[in-house]
Amino acid sequence: MLFSSIRVDLFATLCEAKGMTQNERVYMASHRCHDVDFLMRRWRGVARQAGMRVDGLDAASQTTLLALSNLEKGSEGGIYLSAGIHGDEPAAVQGLLQWAEENIPFLRNHPVIIFPCLNPWGLRNNMREDEEGKDLNRCFDQLENELVAWVHRLIEGYRFQVAACLHEDFDAKGVYLYELARRGEHFGSSLLKKLEKIIPRHRGRVDGRESRDGVMRRTRGLKKIVEEIGGMPEAGYLFLNHARTALTFETPSEYSLYRRVQCHVRFLNGVADIGR
Ligand SMILES: [Zn+2]
Repeated sequence: MLFSSIRVDLFATLCEAKGMTQNERVYMASHRCHDVDFLMRRWRGVARQAGMRVDGLDAASQTTLLALSNLEKGSEGGIYLSAGIHGDEPAAVQGLLQWAEENIPFLRNHPVIIFPCLNPWGLRNNMREDEEGKDLNRCFDQLENELVAWVHRLIEGYRFQVAACLHEDFDAKGVYLYELARRGEHFGSSLLKKLEKIIPRHRGRVDGRESRDGVMRRTRGLKKIVEEIGGMPEAGYLFLNHARTALTFETPSEYSLYRRVQCHVRFLNGVADIGR
């Protein structure tokens, strides 16, 4: 009798959410992570401060699809950053914005292109797909898609040192990443090391495949993966056509938004170091 009552108390303790810091409490009560117009106003502020060009998919309308760039034609190196291709992954979008606001001098002095939110309709509605029900991260080689054609046009002719696509995963139990890289070039594990104190690395399998300390690495065999997942992802297209290394970073959706955003910021600090 005594033993069972102790067990009940233990479970009660385990299931209570305690120990939130003041900063986290304020953040969770005040973030506007699905407010696309608010986000885009902040991005326009980043562009002004960093002296970056702003491109819109449709300049005539009040589009919320923006790209910020300071790339010069024909330049080599530089960084490609994107978030929000899946609309139900808000920490990726928030993290990219927070990182940019904290790194204006970097953005002034390094070649960078940023796609702050590739699926604004999805973010507004908390949906993975776009308004036509398409998973944009499975059709990144389809030029008949207006968004895809627009991204292709903006990066035509560029070779990036590194591309980073930011995501979240509802099934994950920790942070992990997909690393598409040239042989002998490894960044994934050291990037995760910078943030695993905030959220630990995912252990075990991802989509049926074993990860190595949270890193799913490929140097070839991409065609087979594209077939398996049912279409070309953004990072795959970038690796095949534009980037030496293409990283897809994932935070676990069921952790605190506050911590997930912090992980994206730290991840981007690491990516910026590669591009310095
Ligand atoms: Zn995603």
